[in-house]
Amino acid sequence: MQTVRPAADHLKNLEPYDPKYLPARVYLNANENPYGMPEKARTEFVRMIESEPLHRYPDPLAKRLRSAVSTKLGLAPECIVLGNGGDELLFNLCLAYGGKGRSMLIAPPTFASYYSNALLTHTELVEVPRAGSVSLEGMLDLSIDEEAILERISSGTIDIVMLTSPNNPSGDCLSLAFIKELLAASDAVVLIDHAYIEFSAPGFNATSLLAGNANLAILRTFSKAYGLAGMRIGYIAANTGITSELCKVRQPYSVDSLAALAALSALAEEDEVQRSVERIVSERLRLASLVGSLGHGIPVAPSEANYLLIKVPNAHAVWKELHETYGILVRDLSAQEGLTDCLRVSIGTPAENDEFIKALREIAIEN
Ligand code: PMP
Repeated sequence: MQTVRPAADHLKNLEPYDPKYLPARVYLNANENPYGMPEKARTEFVRMIESEPLHRYPDPLAKRLRSAVSTKLGLAPECIVLGNGGDELLFNLCLAYGGKGRSMLIAPPTFASYYSNALLTHTELVEVPRAGSVSLEGMLDLSIDEEAILERISSGTIDIVMLTSPNNPSGDCLSLAFIKELLAASDAVVLIDHAYIEFSAPGFNATSLLAGNANLAILRTFSKAYGLAGMRIGYIAANTGITSELCKVRQPYSVDSLAALAALSALAEEDEVQRSVERIVSERLRLASLVGSLGHGIPVAPSEANYLLIKVPNAHAVWKELHETYGILVRDLSAQEGLTDCLRVSIGTPAENDEFIKALREIAIEN
């Protein structure tokens, strides 16, 4: 055949996910941990690979890792479902609880994957936007509209509530009081995406709410704080009412043997992971205050994550110059609705952050 029939109708308006990767000298675009996985964990991982039977299929549920994660969280192993990165699990949640005639509430601007997951699973999206503004103190504010969300949920017609805490790209967290209200407002599955929770103040972690809330699911990943973005491993923690449904839709071997080993090694070095998180958090504070004091002040969103959302005039041109002249890659979000002139900058090492500040000063202030 010289031709092929069209793909499914719902793919017509879907663009493949594009992380906007470009070769660069300094990568501040993908919210990775610049320190990588702990050195001792890497050594142990390499040692374990030696004896791993790679000709055998992996354990479908990665029980050793599942048990280590459940011990860390103080939950039963059955409350953990591992997957090929958080991305896969977010899709699985839509497969299990979305579908034709079902709906998912999100609060944009937020993580782009939620859109394609809804579209691919024929789930209707209900958007309750964040109102972006710059405060008198020069802070960029994209906080969530709690009242509007609670009101929309109270109708009882929403099947999934997908909220990000800290939010990507704004970096703000949901309060536990609000999450409790959400959970009580309906029996919708409330997925709290905690991909960046390790970088937040402890009071924002919703894990304790799993006790007594059958409709809560929490997403975590090894890609960020644990420095394992390249291995593709994450998990959902939830009560068994939810995890048993997720087990029905997951790909049986989505967690490969090596990813499970790498995550196990990293979990065994929590202290080292914590030290890199502390370094990143202290650099986040330093960078936020430096950016905020450039020129007449560049608005920065207060962040509980390992990145900052900033608003600069002619953001796209600034992004381009950062990359082309200085070799620094940040994420240009300025074309997205609600993010006019916004760039997202991951927190790097102190030297990388210094380079970024110097370049931003030269481009945005001195030009
Ligand atoms: N949730 C959010 C908010 C994210 O930003 C990301 C990564 N960009 C993920 C989930 C998924 O991360 P991963 O698939 O690497 O675990």
